[in-house]
Amino acid sequence: MQKKAANLAVVTNNTFEAFKADNLTHYDISSALQTTLEFDELVHIFSNKIQNLIPHSGFVYSNEEFDLEIKNGIVTRSSCSYAMKVEEQQLGELKLMRRQKFSEQELTMIETLLCCLIYPLRNATLFQQAMNLAFTDVLTQTRNRSAFNDIVRREIRLAHRNGNHLSVIFIDIDHFKSINDNYGHQCGDLALTSVAKWINESIRSSDIVFRYGGEEFVVLLSETDLDGAELLAERIRQNIENHIFAYGLETIRMTASLGTSTLRGDDTLDKFIDRADQAMYRAKQTGRNRVVTA
Ligand code: GH3
Ligand code: MG
Ligand code: MG
Repeated sequence: MQKKAANLAVVTNNTFEAFKADNLTHYDISSALQTTLEFDELVHIFSNKIQNLIPHSGFVYSNEEFDLEIKNGIVTRSSCSYAMKVEEQQLGELKLMRRQKFSEQELTMIETLLCCLIYPLRNATLFQQAMNLAFTDVLTQTRNRSAFNDIVRREIRLAHRNGNHLSVIFIDIDHFKSINDNYGHQCGDLALTSVAKWINESIRSSDIVFRYGGEEFVVLLSETDLDGAELLAERIRQNIENHIFAYGLETIRMTASLGTSTLRGDDTLDKFIDRADQAMYRAKQTGRNRVVTA
């Protein structure tokens, strides 16, 4: 009777310990994942935390919605991948890799562990979606002034630290008021959307376009010197000049004045921006539809 009770106690204890250990692992992973809303950090933390349980040599996380592909470690032929989704929200795909095939038992464990990652990924998705919305200009779908203030500070810090070039182009549409006056505000809105599209078509994927104010746009060019900025500004100017904007039966042509500047060693944000702004005003004063370099 006593033996039976002892056995029972042991069995109960073992089960309890195993259950507790499992819970603790999940708790440990979940706690670590609660420390960030960045996709990059989330998948790195997850990979590190499961390394003891599921040894792997590398991972790839991809997320189409945010145009992400985060890679780490060694790419191998053997892999297992999971497309993650919660309540119709796609959360991207995680691929774990290693030379040796994953066992069925390991695959089951990965699926259990992924439960810890799903909700942090959902939170990151909601956060990034909210950020994108807050930093996007509704009319032109370019980034807005708040986004510019945020990103330009970061880019200046990076450029100063790494000794990289950073340039900026200010773009102001010429006589834009007359478009509103002659064809109405709705036409003006469509014209702004078109100009944003033509600017986007003229730049490289590493350049970022912002709507700075009413009919003013800014392009931020990382790792680009003044010559490069001038070339790009000229391409944007030509692209705007060469397009014809159709509104009903009307065909409307637009031009813009552009100013460029490049970051100098002792520049503050204000100095860097003011030079480009002043250059753009000189372009206005000297006849419009031109590029002036500061
Ligand atoms: P300049 O060549 O000197 O730049 O002349 P401009 O007419 O372009 O400049 P001005 O600053 O006199 O006028 C800017 C106009 O842009 C006035 C404003 O109503 C218009 N505008 C600003 N934001 C919007 C917008 O979101 N939609 C529309 N339709 N018009 C806008
Ligand atoms: Mg203006
Ligand atoms: Mg203008």
